[in-house]
Amino acid sequence: MSETTQGLNISFHGAAGEVTGSKHLITTPAGSKILLDCGLFQGKRVEAAEKNKEFGFDPSDIDAVLLSHAHIDHSGLLPKLAKDGFSGKIYTTDGTMDLCDAMLHDSARIQEEDEAYFNRNKDTLPDTFVKREPLYRTEDVDRVLKQFVGVKYREKIQVTPDIEAEFYDAGHVFGSGVIKLTIDTPEGYKKLIFTGDLGRHDMPILNDPEYAGEADYLLIESTYGDRAHEGVSTLKEDLAEIINKTVERGGKIFIPVFALERTQEMILRLEELMYDKKIPSLDIFIDSPLAGKLTKVFEQHPEYYDEDMKERHARNPQVFSFENLKFTESVEESKELNFIRKPCIIMAGSGMMENGRIRHHLKFNIENEKNSLLVVGYQAVETLGRKIVEGQKSVPILGHDFEVKLELKIFKSMSAHADMHALDKYVQSVKGLKKVILIHGEQDSREAFAERIKSMDLGADIVMPTIGEKIDL
Ligand SMILES: [Zn+2]
Repeated sequence: MSETTQGLNISFHGAAGEVTGSKHLITTPAGSKILLDCGLFQGKRVEAAEKNKEFGFDPSDIDAVLLSHAHIDHSGLLPKLAKDGFSGKIYTTDGTMDLCDAMLHDSARIQEEDEAYFNRNKDTLPDTFVKREPLYRTEDVDRVLKQFVGVKYREKIQVTPDIEAEFYDAGHVFGSGVIKLTIDTPEGYKKLIFTGDLGRHDMPILNDPEYAGEADYLLIESTYGDRAHEGVSTLKEDLAEIINKTVERGGKIFIPVFALERTQEMILRLEELMYDKKIPSLDIFIDSPLAGKLTKVFEQHPEYYDEDMKERHARNPQVFSFENLKFTESVEESKELNFIRKPCIIMAGSGMMENGRIRHHLKFNIENEKNSLLVVGYQAVETLGRKIVEGQKSVPILGHDFEVKLELKIFKSMSAHADMHALDKYVQSVKGLKKVILIHGEQDSREAFAERIKSMDLGADIVMPTIGEKIDL
């Protein structure tokens, strides 16, 4: 087909052969253009900054955005999209909308602080230190938030005259959605399912991922396309064991966490352990202002809770506010945690220990063998977390080397993504498929997933797009 043909097509501007920068542009025969997600590329600073500069399309041409969930690698470039000319609506669930308010403001704040740091130190910084203009500022976030429209699961939304959309529960993080489109074309209605990120079954707080029925096209994530998760059955026992051991020797427990979902899950697990008297009653400090804000959103939207969580909420409407749980706001409050002499639990970001307040806590506590460090999330290469997890005896923190003397406990079973078995089931749940498009996964992971889909004999094409590629539907 020639470039001028007005067929239904989709082009990929991120999360194609990698896991960040999710952005997929659909163009319809009637000329509508809608964007699925508008995520920030993350990873190595200089490379990511380069990729985040250009969208690969004109933002002012986009009619509307459909946003699957609040993670920054799916939502983080929305303020720039609006700043660069996008004036349409952004449809997402009410929960995602409220989470984005906190997440995007936090993202702008980090960029503004980076810039301020550069301006303060530009005379002494090495030449290799690249000045980075913020991609957007607080006022850009304020503006884009006005373009958000909150929707309910299974509510039909007329996005453009020829596109109708519906969100289903993706079970990945709070408010996350699988998006199903029904597109009116000269050849009849075409249905497309975009999974966003898919969650896993039996996680706290959230419902299991919901199937979205039949479709012609499936755009499915493939983060764990080649791996199965370990069971979560002994998680609570393992948590109780390490906490009790630490308390007996008079130490503190540090948990580096991601502010969204992992923090709230951990709060609930710890509260349960205390309620069941499996661990003593300890103070839990959430030392992250962002995590505090996000936890409030969890409290405001009980409609996203699963059955267990609804029961819990019915017994106690303040699920996330109990006596031992303390949220610290200011840097001073955070510093004061150093002076606590009795055992306690401190959760702080960032999850990979590269940034944030956790580094300050580790600086003061990593060389004390009474303490424990609980690693509950994936640690990317070259991060401080990865160095510790790999067993390095000495690690650099805030410019100095420290010996790793505290007890390390790694929990591998807490990923928020569906594993290979759950992904297979999702593909099999969609009847009538003509094309399965694998996105959001490293290449090895996609290829393994593609092989298994082939063996399902669905009679559908399997596509693994690269960035910038356009596919006719
Ligand atoms: Zn996600």
